[in-house]
Amino acid sequence: MGRYFGTSGIRGKVGEFLTPELALRAGRALGEYLGGGEVAVGRDARVHGQAIASAVIAGLLSQGCRVVDVGVVCTPTLGCYVVEEGLDAGVMVTASHNPPEYNGIKFWNEDGMAFTPDQEREIEELMDGELSYPGWREFREAEGDGSAPRVHVERILEEVGADGEGLRVVVDCANGPSALVTPVVLREMGCEVITLNAHLDGHFPGRHPEPRPEHLEDLMRAVRSVGADLGIAHDGDADRVVFVTEEGEFAGYDEVLALVCRRILEEKGAGKVAVNVDASMVVDEVVRELGGEVVRTRVGDVYVAEAIKREGCVFGGEPNGTWIHPDVHLCPDGPLSAAWMVSLLVEEDRPLSELLEEVPRYPTLRESVECPEELKPRVMECVERRVREEYDRIDTVDGVRVELEDGWALVRPSGTEPLVRVTVEAESRERAEELRDEFVRLVRECLREVGG
Ligand code: MG
Repeated sequence: MGRYFGTSGIRGKVGEFLTPELALRAGRALGEYLGGGEVAVGRDARVHGQAIASAVIAGLLSQGCRVVDVGVVCTPTLGCYVVEEGLDAGVMVTASHNPPEYNGIKFWNEDGMAFTPDQEREIEELMDGELSYPGWREFREAEGDGSAPRVHVERILEEVGADGEGLRVVVDCANGPSALVTPVVLREMGCEVITLNAHLDGHFPGRHPEPRPEHLEDLMRAVRSVGADLGIAHDGDADRVVFVTEEGEFAGYDEVLALVCRRILEEKGAGKVAVNVDASMVVDEVVRELGGEVVRTRVGDVYVAEAIKREGCVFGGEPNGTWIHPDVHLCPDGPLSAAWMVSLLVEEDRPLSELLEEVPRYPTLRESVECPEELKPRVMECVERRVREEYDRIDTVDGVRVELEDGWALVRPSGTEPLVRVTVEAESRERAEELRDEFVRLVRECLREVGG
């Protein structure tokens, strides 16, 4: 983690960590990094979005960039717009699923992929360095373009086709910009769409912007009461999507991911699929059955996107509902994923709950061990050494992941809290408990060994 950039761009409470001054600096640094160039700037519906975005825009203009202000949009709308318009970069002012007092700044490349940590380090250096201004003739005015949501809608329709006839869908937009895209796309596909929280409001009066099951009770109730075929919910900037079955039940993250992987591989023939180290072995099972290959990545959409590029994957995703469809762009796209799920239901002509039943489900257990920040690297070294003495199939792309015949275990330091997390999954509950106990014990022993 750098000085300004965390796990997902620059993120913090406005007026404390994130200020217009910092945003101005970030904008200038990006302009310098690009050497001028054409940049789209968008923001989610947060109350301080305009203040932060205006500062970013001022920074970009001050380095001689051409700036297109696309206003309030979904993060994937910005990614799509950058690609479709052939721009050099995008800036999204968003704090995704965080509470309303937060905001953030995230940079995007010309192919819709988030800036990598290496690129972010370069930006940080420029932010702290001495920046010069271009000649007075190089300054321009920002252009406004309100067409970005329409560009996104058209691109999604082109990708998934327009078949949604006869499906009744409830969409919970979290008072965020997904309201500008998802209901529009689904209606144009022929669905009957009922919306919840579809007015933009940065106070998030409808629900918490993180689409966890405990925040989606209204959606589950609405699906049941109107007899809908599907419930859809996004986070605050719509790079994520989650689903509720026709029975009003939250559809499990991993089962849905496996279902999508299966569908994509059936469509494309064999191929590689990128998922993070935390995704269920259900994905491996489904992908292997179809002759595909799973590429495991670090947790974070940028790592999934990098793996897709590097390995030529046909799809990538994380269990939290960020899915990347590389044919369109490399930004996780909630509205596109929602349209994709609708087309899957129409083609299968079976309810989601029934499709999910075909995907095996295994118990996953999680436990955390307290560990001071400064001891984390040594604890992880010890865990890796001890694990190598005992097991063969070890992946250290993010933490230490051990692959077993009947399950897996992952030991990973938390990026934000003084904790080391243990995640295990196994074919039976008893085996999962056994694995959890074994790996929690290992972390505790290592903690003692390094003097914790
Ligand atoms: Mg998000």
